Amino acid sequence: MIEDMLRTPAAVQDAERHTAHNYHPLPVVISSAEGAWVTDVDGRRYLDCLAGYSALNFGHRHPTLIAAAHAQLDKLTLTSRAFIHDQFADFCRELAALCGKDLVLPMNTGAEAVETGIKVARKWGYQVKGVPAGQANIVVAEGNFHGRTTTIVSFSTDEDARADFGPYTPGFRVVPYGDLAALAEAIDEHTVAVLLEPIQGEQGVVVPPEGYLPGVRQLCTERDVLFIADEIQSGLGRTGTTFACEQEGVVPDMYLLGKALGGGIVPVSAVAADTDVLGVLRPGQHGSTFGGNPLACAVATEVVRLLATGEFQRRSAELGERLHAGLRGLIGKGLVAVRGRGLWVGLDLDPSLMSGREACERLMERGVLAKDTHGSTIRLAPPLVITEEEIDHAVAQVAAVLAG
Ligand SMILES: *Cc1c(COP(=O)(O)O)cnc(C)c1O
Repeated sequence: MIEDMLRTPAAVQDAERHTAHNYHPLPVVISSAEGAWVTDVDGRRYLDCLAGYSALNFGHRHPTLIAAAHAQLDKLTLTSRAFIHDQFADFCRELAALCGKDLVLPMNTGAEAVETGIKVARKWGYQVKGVPAGQANIVVAEGNFHGRTTTIVSFSTDEDARADFGPYTPGFRVVPYGDLAALAEAIDEHTVAVLLEPIQGEQGVVVPPEGYLPGVRQLCTERDVLFIADEIQSGLGRTGTTFACEQEGVVPDMYLLGKALGGGIVPVSAVAADTDVLGVLRPGQHGSTFGGNPLACAVATEVVRLLATGEFQRRSAELGERLHAGLRGLIGKGLVAVRGRGLWVGLDLDPSLMSGREACERLMERGVLAKDTHGSTIRLAPPLVITEEEIDHAVAQVAAVLAG
């Protein structure tokens, strides 16, 4: 520890001095970026293999997105929803079309999209399904990550995220992820929704068993329950398709979107669903001062248009194969498991070698930025603009770190 402190550059210490210690960042201070690369205050370049937890799916400062932001900054940035602005209609129509849903409700952060989904599901439960007042429950999965608000941490199974933040919001039931029988058991006549990540990102890019998502879909349909897919991290091209649910041919009742929707420029999140679900909200029942602001809409509309070309989904699928194949070659050479979809990988290191944190520090020294999750698991989620050569470079650096 002391040795670490001595090696810590002044710029890192400066950044830590007057902030709450709710993060444990790698000791790198970034000052500029382009595409898949970032540059620190000393001019060192790093390949960004985290991409802002998928908020930077299109890379840093994608020219189309930056141009849209610049143009909008010169015209109009905020109206609040008290008035209508000229960027709103296109954004809502095009995002709804991308999702195959009637309506969208724009918010800012992912956690707000999750909160919105919970509120809408409860209202739908009381008004449409006929659940008695105050009795609604929502089923969620063990190992979930849906954000950091007091309600959301109430149903987290990560003690760091949850402990000492009670009293907790009631109305949630937790079942093992990937277990259809447990889910069927947990659903009762007061269940309004099943809220799941189609792939659990923070948990270490955990892919559920084949058939699980279609099974969830079928159970929800049979029992008159909304299937809410939290695609905040898995969606918008990350897994090789627009939505991770698509890969199992599943259409949820509600998509929760965020992260990449803001193009790495502004926080933009949204809930997308059909009129019979999102239509339950009336004026005054939900909102956000910044939600759906002109700058957010201008950038996010271009994000939707980039995705509508299919190019990024294709890149993720094709380059993902290369990334997975390269990393699978390291199983038995320091890696014990490689999983994920597209350009999204969870790696379990041999825990006797080093912790995930240590691996990320060593990768950083080799010019690759990645993030550990739990224990000896690290996650790679490079921008979808990464090239084949850059993927090979990243895999070579992982190999070198594992080789010690
Ligand atoms: C990041 C994330 C969230 C929370 O998003 P914030 O913008 O950090 O509030 C919710 N769900 C999932 C699956 C996420 O990965």
